Amino acid sequence: MRTFVLASQNKHKAEEIKQILGPGFEIKTMEEVGLSNFEIIEDGNTFEENAAKKAAAVFNKINMPVIADDSGLCVDFLGGAPGIHTARFAGENASDNDNINKLLYELKNVSFEKRTAKFVCVIAFIENSLDNLKYFRGECSGFILNERRGCSGFGYDPVFYYKKYDKTLAELGEDIKNTVSHRYKALKAFSDFLK
Ligand code: IMP
Repeated sequence: MRTFVLASQNKHKAEEIKQILGPGFEIKTMEEVGLSNFEIIEDGNTFEENAAKKAAAVFNKINMPVIADDSGLCVDFLGGAPGIHTARFAGENASDNDNINKLLYELKNVSFEKRTAKFVCVIAFIENSLDNLKYFRGECSGFILNERRGCSGFGYDPVFYYKKYDKTLAELGEDIKNTVSHRYKALKAFSDFLK
C-alpha cells in the first residue's frame, strides 16, 4: 500500500482519484492531515505551475509524499479559455452553475462543430524532495453542448459531450467517466510510473 496526501480541498476530485487509483493506494485528504484551512494561492501561468505550487506548499508542511491535481477546461472557440481560470471563470466565488452559465453565454450562436474543447489534468508528484518533482498530464476531448444533460460528476460535466458514448460526462456516470477522463489518463501515467 502506498500513501499520498492529496493537495486539494475539492472532495469530488479526491473521490475520483481514489476510485481511479484503486485499492493499492491510500489517499489522505488535507483535512485528514490537519490542513483543512490551509489555503494555497494558485497564481501560476500554466496547469503545471499551479499543480507544482499546490504540491510544494503541502509537502513543505507535512514532509510526506504529495500529489496535486490542477485541471481545467480549454475551449477552442475561446482561444483555449478558461484554461487555468476554469474554477473562477464567472468570478472569484463562482459556483459550477455560474461558470456553466457564463460558458453557454460565451458560446451562444456558435455551431456544434465549432464548440470543440478539452479537459486537461496535470498531476504533480513530490515523493521526498522538491528537487524531484514529476508531472503527469492527461487530456479528454469533446464538445460543449448548449444545454445541460445529466447530473453525475461535477464542474462542467453536464455540458461536456463525449462523442464515443454520445453522452455528456454527467450522463456517463462516475464509473465510465473514470475510464476516459483527463484525470484518469494523468493518474494512469502516474501509476504506471510507480510500477
Ligand atoms: P482547480 O481546482 O483549480 O484545478 O480547478 C478545476 C476547475 O476545472 C474547476 O472549476 C472544475 O469544475 C473544473 N474541472 C476540473 N476537472 C473537471 C471534471 O472532471 N469535470 C468537470 N469540471 C472539471
